[in-house]
Amino acid sequence: YHGEETLQVNNFTETIEISEKFNEFFAKMKLMNDSREEFVSNVSHELKTPLTSIKVLADSINSMPDAPLEMYQEFMGDITNEIDRETKIINDLLSLVRMDKSSSDVNIENLNINELVEQILKRLQPIADKQKVALVLESFRPIMADVDEVKITLAITNLIENAIKYNRNDGEGWVHISLNADHQYFYLKVEDSGMGIPEESLDHIYERFYRVDKSHSREIGGTGLGLAITRNAVLMHRGAIKVYSVLGEGTTFDVRIPLKFIV
Ligand code: ADP
Repeated sequence: YHGEETLQVNNFTETIEISEKFNEFFAKMKLMNDSREEFVSNVSHELKTPLTSIKVLADSINSMPDAPLEMYQEFMGDITNEIDRETKIINDLLSLVRMDKSSSDVNIENLNINELVEQILKRLQPIADKQKVALVLESFRPIMADVDEVKITLAITNLIENAIKYNRNDGEGWVHISLNADHQYFYLKVEDSGMGIPEESLDHIYERFYRVDKSHSREIGGTGLGLAITRNAVLMHRGAIKVYSVLGEGTTFDVRIPLKFIV
């Protein structure tokens, strides 16, 4: 008799546990669905913005058959810029979607990270020169690590590109990149003397399409997808990323990636 009573009590708690699990599951499903809907609506909005500009510019040209040549040239230049912007958004989206897919198309190789970062800097040097920002690399030791070259290159490029883009342009700006390692991880630090990120934005910067200052970022040429791509790539490598920032002084991103890839 005593035993039966215990059994009943157990069944009851189990039922509660199962129904709680179901609720949790449905809440998760709803959240996934909501964020997917939000993503699709964000994508549509972002893709429409350059198209709207192109349409306005093209309509204006069409309505002015006698406009001077310089005006045509100016409008065509603006249209080209909008097309470039649209292309950048689509390319970033494709990178992000590829990164989101299962890790089946991950291509891990044991690579020299110092060389990889040097190559990235070489590619970004012209942008830094244009912004009059000094790029400095400090490599504390030679590093070999298991990485997906394409994905890790995207991740690092985005961090350094941001450090250049959101820097000061009075000729005093700098970006300091440092590479270090221990027996388990390599560490990449990207420190800049830029505008900094407001504290309330720090939790959001990895969200797709999030930009601290929409108009400013647009001027600077951002899509709001760069850090989402970076974070995905870092997590795909089972690494970690952290940000520290002081408004008006600068920002530091700290990335840690395991030397050996864990499947
Ligand atoms: P974007 O394409 O707009 O640069 P990101 O996803 O790369 O998008 O970055 C999101 C936002 O975070 C940027 O719009 C910018 O406001 C802010 N941000 C990123 N990196 C930096 C940085 N190094 N300094 C200041 N702000 C930054």
